[in-house]
Amino acid sequence: NDKSLIVSFGEMLIDFVPTVSGVSLAEAPGFVKAPGGAPANVAIAVARLGGKAAFVGKLGDDEFGNMLAGILKENGVIATGINFDTGARTALAFVTLRADGEREFMFYRNPSADMLLRPEELNLELIRSAKVFHYGSISLIVEPCRSAHLQAMKVAKDAGALLSYDPNLRLPLWPSEEEAREQILSIWDEADVVKVSDNELEFLTGSDKVDDETAMSLWRPNFKLLLVTLGEKGCNYYTKNFHGSVEAFHVDTVDTTGAGDAFVGALLCKIVDDQSVLEDEPRLREILRFANACGAITTTKKGAIPALPTPADALKLVNE
Ligand code: ADP
Repeated sequence: NDKSLIVSFGEMLIDFVPTVSGVSLAEAPGFVKAPGGAPANVAIAVARLGGKAAFVGKLGDDEFGNMLAGILKENGVIATGINFDTGARTALAFVTLRADGEREFMFYRNPSADMLLRPEELNLELIRSAKVFHYGSISLIVEPCRSAHLQAMKVAKDAGALLSYDPNLRLPLWPSEEEAREQILSIWDEADVVKVSDNELEFLTGSDKVDDETAMSLWRPNFKLLLVTLGEKGCNYYTKNFHGSVEAFHVDTVDTTGAGDAFVGALLCKIVDDQSVLEDEPRLREILRFANACGAITTTKKGAIPALPTPADALKLVNE
């Protein structure tokens, strides 16, 4: 179709989540598979909302990798940017929220296929045709996917794409906090649109205040839009000429996984064909209300991908 393409770059993996809540990994009686990975969630969010999305990344040539590629295709995401590694396995994570409120993680990454994407494997034609190129940070952690990430960003930017960055901080994956902060900020300046959560804002700035001054310390001359998402409090937005907040919707939240990805996917769908909305505050606020609705809907069901909204779901909430 002739819609403009949104390419999302990075990891896709399977989270194994205990069948009962509030237990440690060791106590879990069983696990259910929850496919995810923030960049893959964003691609599916875009496609489910009717946009044109492609995913670029690497999976293992195994049962899990084929399952994930199938999920992308079933959801209408273009899969020509996916590579399969014949040696390494698909990334897996075991994740639980314990009764004491702590999140416990265990990763199968030694290394997993996603970390082994090489620059020469990139589908450059696909990346060059992106109107928006979206990426996270996990692919910055190790080589060779770090080089692939940097190369893909450069190719997209040189071809005129709008660059969209969500750092998706997953601290347990980084060797240290300092390295995470340094690497995330090392590609900060190039983005056009950046979305951080309140926690990421605190982490990246070292401040414990989620206020305008702290947010603006992350602003760069190249930026067109900086967003700080605040969970049930909605989001704050910053542009060169104006800033403000848009309230969240009240919903019955059961699982917040994927809310930020739904928010980003919705935003990208709305700006891909008309970037002038980034300079028009009333129109931008309307788009952020829609993105907030998409984030909110995603919290009302378990898991990320099954909970991502259709346009009808989103409009219903927006018009309530
Ligand atoms: P992330 O998932 O990246 O941490 P947030 O949790 O801030 O990002 O969620 C992104 C957006 O989704 C928020 O700005 C908000 O609009 C919506 N959202 C998230 N959690 C809730 C919630 N509990 N109730 C209503 N809306 C929510």
